[in-house]
Amino acid sequence: MSPSGPSQRALVDRRGCLTPAGFEALARAPVGRGPAELAAHVASCPRCQERMLAGPAGARPSSTPARRRKPRLWIGVGLAVVAFVLALAALILTARLL
Ligand SMILES: [Zn+2]
Repeated sequence: MSPSGPSQRALVDRRGCLTPAGFEALARAPVGRGPAELAAHVASCPRCQERMLAGPAGARPSSTPARRRKPRLWIGVGLAVVAFVLALAALILTARLL
């Protein structure tokens, strides 16, 4: 019997998947000392894994959402530089041939 914590019913829904309270219980528990049943279910349930990766609702407000990464501007700049160098080389070769 678990000595403390909310009732086991609140941690999982009818399907046996973790509820937000279940995810919160897992998040609060020390590593390796979490509810074994919940951890085992998450390990074998892709649905709960996706939900956990997506972030437990309200469990960790401190976790920032995925920040916007810089647009791949450097790729465009690099391509422009390469194109310029190729054009320059073509010009030089053409000038030599003429
Ligand atoms: Zn599940």
